[in-house]
Amino acid sequence: MPPPRVTLKAGRDKSLRLRHPWIFSGAIERVEGAPAAGASVAVHAADGEFLATAAWSPASQIRGRVWSFDPHDTIDSAFIAAKVHSAVRRRDFLLDDRHTGCRLIHGESDGLPGIIADRYGDVVVAQLLAVGAEPWRDALVAALCEATGCSTVFERSDADVRALEGLPPRVGLLAGALPERVPLVEDGLAYRVDVAHGQKTGFYLDQRDNRRRVRELAQGRDVLNCFCYTGGFTIAALAGGARSALSIDSSTEALRHAAAHVADNALNAEHVEWRDADVFAELRKLRDGARAFDLIVLDPPKFAPTAGHAEKATRAYKDINLLALKLLRPGGLLATFSCSGGVSAELFQKIVAGAALDARVDAALVERFGPSADHPVALNFPEGDYLKGLLVHKRA
Ligand code: SAH
Repeated sequence: MPPPRVTLKAGRDKSLRLRHPWIFSGAIERVEGAPAAGASVAVHAADGEFLATAAWSPASQIRGRVWSFDPHDTIDSAFIAAKVHSAVRRRDFLLDDRHTGCRLIHGESDGLPGIIADRYGDVVVAQLLAVGAEPWRDALVAALCEATGCSTVFERSDADVRALEGLPPRVGLLAGALPERVPLVEDGLAYRVDVAHGQKTGFYLDQRDNRRRVRELAQGRDVLNCFCYTGGFTIAALAGGARSALSIDSSTEALRHAAAHVADNALNAEHVEWRDADVFAELRKLRDGARAFDLIVLDPPKFAPTAGHAEKATRAYKDINLLALKLLRPGGLLATFSCSGGVSAELFQKIVAGAALDARVDAALVERFGPSADHPVALNFPEGDYLKGLLVHKRA
């Protein structure tokens, strides 16, 4: 039986020809064969030419996500396993004695739309975020175990985007046994990841290289780490010889783990203060108290998931960056990040420039940050380019 067939409207085949992996609902002329949610469909141009095989997602505006542009490919367990295998092998060079974790599968950018997998030591955490991934859960688990040698796979498909796909959240063990906290070594530093309850899959692996850079810059500095989560940038700064590290987050649970990470790495707990607070309010308090720092990290959550949220997000980014620039001593450094897909690198730089202007601070951009190499951005999928950061030097 031929697969269900989707025919695009005339002139709406351009993005697929550019190998962009999404098919929007508005581009579709006709659907034949009544595909079930998550089923593979053959996508054709208006003139009948084959364009791609995609996963059908009837609830989402992103109605199809491309598995393959090759008419000879069949989407089955072997296809999924081959994609998992190449994604895992591409990251072999990122794992060694000093690093026991990395992202293994980065969705569309690894040719596996809607699928995320992160490795922490011997544990793999998977997220199935699109309905097209659902039929392949078992194949995915088997392939991940086979490719990594790990025996534990835990599912954290509880991200909000599942709702857009008409899917309920799903969390639980898919293979093996999960320790309460999973040991992870990053840049030689020890962390214990709460895979079952932590944010996302438990740890923000995308900031690996940037934590290392902060470590290199921290020597002798008074550090302020805003949105510190389980302390990644704080631990890195302390390991780099920071004189002090004030760290703020609104998650009590994350701060508890953060404090444990100081002890785990035999770092001096007297150099660090954890504050359970709202960063927006706390930065104002620090300003009113005339506090000053030599290195400030701002790594907020995603203020703008899509471009539709950009205006409100712009105000929030500007606010915290303005306050941070005021709190910096002359000669100090601000490492400021945005993980909002809806805010481009260009816009983010403009926001930070506006913040400096309003703060009446003379500052220069000295470095740019991006995600580490385990979070590649496929060139046909610019939407994957979400994490950007700037290192700003406040001039004396
Ligand atoms: N820098 C961290 C990751 C930050 S994730 C790392 O390297 O691991 C963003 C963090 O911001 C989360 O821990 C979340 O709890 C916190 N957060 C979100 N809104 C906040 C707010 N208004 N004030 C303080 N913390 C906030």
